[in-house]
Amino acid sequence: MGENDDCIFCKITGNQIPSSKILENGKVVAFLDINPVNKGHALIVPKEHFKTLLEVPDNTLTEMMVAAKRIAKSMRKAIKADGINLGMNNFPAAGQEVMHAHVHVIPRFENDGLQHWPAKKYDEGEMEQLREKLVALL
Ligand code: 5GP
Ligand code: ZN
Repeated sequence: MGENDDCIFCKITGNQIPSSKILENGKVVAFLDINPVNKGHALIVPKEHFKTLLEVPDNTLTEMMVAAKRIAKSMRKAIKADGINLGMNNFPAAGQEVMHAHVHVIPRFENDGLQHWPAKKYDEGEMEQLREKLVALL
């Protein structure tokens, strides 16, 4: 199975190094992030080594999202999360540090002090130009 010897998440999925696993099914494993944004922050990874979202097969992505939903439900009940953020950093420019695709599931609490991303404004006509470019290459 696709495994990368230098990859920390392959070592976790292969049980070569310990992790606090919370869920495992056919193609994915979820475990607690060692440096949580909020306590309970979980990571969902494919068992097989894929670098980013763009390489993960669709059926594996489905399993990752289904796992995210189950974990989100548990976070609401077990740790009384008021909200849940899902996030995925793809490529270093987006903040990806571990190059084994993973989805962050972050429990959120009222007044936890975390800030959302700042927003930009489009120039006149720019939004439509971008829409056309994106649609053309879907
Ligand atoms: P990225 O920036 O690549 O989206 O996030 C990588 C995440 O993996 C970080 O939140 C980091 O705390 C977590 N992480 C890195 N190494 C380990 C590890 O050895 N064990 C666990 N449980 N999490 C890790
Ligand atoms: Zn890996």
